Amino acid sequence: MRAFYHGVLGWPELTKPPLLAARGGCWFSVPGVGGPTAELHIGVEEPFRPARKAHPAFVVHVDTTAATLIAAGHTVRWADPAEIPGRRRFHTDDPAGNRLEFLDSEHSAGAGRVPFDIGDYERRVRESPCFVCAIVAGTHDSEMEQIIDEDDENIAFLGRYPTLLGHTLVAPKQHREHVVRELDLPQFQRLTGMVHRVARAVEAVLPTERMYVSSLGSQQGNSHLHWHIAPLPPGVPYREQQFHALMAENGVIPWTLGDAVDLAGRLRRALDPPAAE
Ligand SMILES: [Zn+2]
Repeated sequence: MRAFYHGVLGWPELTKPPLLAARGGCWFSVPGVGGPTAELHIGVEEPFRPARKAHPAFVVHVDTTAATLIAAGHTVRWADPAEIPGRRRFHTDDPAGNRLEFLDSEHSAGAGRVPFDIGDYERRVRESPCFVCAIVAGTHDSEMEQIIDEDDENIAFLGRYPTLLGHTLVAPKQHREHVVRELDLPQFQRLTGMVHRVARAVEAVLPTERMYVSSLGSQQGNSHLHWHIAPLPPGVPYREQQFHALMAENGVIPWTLGDAVDLAGRLRRALDPPAAE
């Protein structure tokens, strides 16, 4: 149980008071997401029978928690979004077979996202030198864009401001701006070959209802051509899918360097071996 609640979910174990410690069991601190921190107190009844119906429901960032559980080999069962409209949630079982529920903090798929300063971002991308060329040269000022895959010609790295967990970019290493007219067909195919390879790794690591692949960009900022790979997680209401889900105007995922390093490691391990020459 400690390996699950502390090891997988990362909840700190609490020291039980001496009188209660004699009765066995263990306590954990449950971080509050959008609410107060709670405690989970676990004890064992004899004879033991796991709770299959009555269950605690924990408010978390559901996509991050689901990905963590899947990476640790647990099964995640997403609830039908029609059951509680707009609230994304799933069930799993702890190692003793007790049913657990995890759900977003608010009645919106955008819950868990944090506001993003579009004006500041726009100023920076329009004033800064090419960030893709800087990543290729190893001179970029941030480690958030962890490199997932690269070959002589192309490179794949994590997005710095993900609107969907697993947002990854794929770009040619040379500074090219136009996705069609500056690439001949074999170059285009090798680039989209890396898109396919990386997107398969993303699907292998993260619960994905539908994979979004797009090439956007602007001649007025971030002109280096790049493909976006963005996995839509299960249970997002229809109106919050597609462009709504991709727009930073609707908030971005709270994201740390530790999160990026962890996800990048899992994606690299999930890549298929390179195709034989
Ligand atoms: Zn460039």
